[in-house]
Amino acid sequence: MNLLQADSEHSSRPGALKHPVPISAVDSPALLVDGERLERNLAGMQALADAAGVTLRPHAKTHKAIAVARRQQETGAVGLCTAKVSEADTFLAGGLRGILVAYPLVGAKAEALAVLAARTPDTLLEGAADSVEGLFDLGRAASRNGVTLGVWLKVDVGLHRAGLAPDDPGLATLALRALSTPGLRLRGLLTHAGHVYAASPQDVAAIGREEGERLVRAARELERQGTGPLKVGLGSTPTAAAAARVEGVDEIHPGVYVFGDRQQVQLGAMQVQDLALSVLATVVSRPAPGRWVLDTGSKTLSSDRGAHGTEGVRGYGTVRALDAHRPSEGGPLPFVTPMEARTPSAAAADAAPVLTRLSEEHAVLEHKAVLPWGPGDRVEILPNHACAAVNLARALYVTEGAGEDRRVVAVWPVTARACVQ
Ligand code: PLP
Repeated sequence: MNLLQADSEHSSRPGALKHPVPISAVDSPALLVDGERLERNLAGMQALADAAGVTLRPHAKTHKAIAVARRQQETGAVGLCTAKVSEADTFLAGGLRGILVAYPLVGAKAEALAVLAARTPDTLLEGAADSVEGLFDLGRAASRNGVTLGVWLKVDVGLHRAGLAPDDPGLATLALRALSTPGLRLRGLLTHAGHVYAASPQDVAAIGREEGERLVRAARELERQGTGPLKVGLGSTPTAAAAARVEGVDEIHPGVYVFGDRQQVQLGAMQVQDLALSVLATVVSRPAPGRWVLDTGSKTLSSDRGAHGTEGVRGYGTVRALDAHRPSEGGPLPFVTPMEARTPSAAAADAAPVLTRLSEEHAVLEHKAVLPWGPGDRVEILPNHACAAVNLARALYVTEGAGEDRRVVAVWPVTARACVQ
């Protein structure tokens, strides 16, 4: 049965199946999304943003799916961030607006952004830069295509990837350059404190506060030098709670929060029972005592051990029985409790058996205790890094219910998968 073709035209909800099917109807490997947990995660991050008085502009690189972006907007999010112009193109085609390509755009990418802006007027498409060259390319492309592009300057608050340091005098040079470049409108400063992924859970809140304070201070200093009002946009899933509460922050850009993954659990940002994404897998071999082989290798899970090259988690994913999936336990929404007050549950997350090796189409589980699985049995894997796994899939199989009653109720295409240009 090809579930992708089973998308119902009769449904008011895109991708919803007219007749929900049991998980047994889905071939493996496949990405399962627990619909109820997804909704709780969307509501939790929205509640966090509302309580802090900031706008939630989520990063769509995690889900790459128009259906998820629409649910984010329906829950209160305003706009989207992407890393790629081609992702922005896909989401614009899906009717989404207010897209910020939060990545330094140079050369052909600057041109592509301007061409897209000219093709989709009044969609509030914006880009980012961290160099004079980038601003030059964006300005030239904007003029050539007859558009004005909103531009955000990228700042480095500790990840030491792209962006100028908040106290780098070059930041003022860039701001003044953006202000004086025809075709550009300076919108604000943005950052992502990705170094949090290498931190220990106790340090996450401090990194978030510092992320906010550094960026706000930089924005106010530029304003003092005459830029006019600047927006402040920042955030990651782990730092969102602390950064959003810093006075002067305007918007937060978390991405992973929609699904969560093992690295979020390891950092204490989410609990295992919040994780909405899992990978359905089949045991294909049990060639020796203590070794199981699954049909789900690096081409499904990716070999990622964590964001930004950090190796935060052990192995390549935890494995659990399909019917071990339990409904959410209610209680407070994820994210709304400040990081400081949360109890990291890393140990609990890793009590389950862990994939020890991956090749492209095989995942190896080596475990001392006897596990009740043999060839043909189906299991679920909690991946290390949701974004990397989703980008490898064609579709998300959205489920409702738990245990034996769990059913696939919708199939959502990963619309922007492999959009890397
Ligand atoms: N903003 C930027 C610029 C990013 O690079 C990322 C992630 O890479 C995010 C926001 C989202 O953060 P997270 O993946 O922690 O949710």
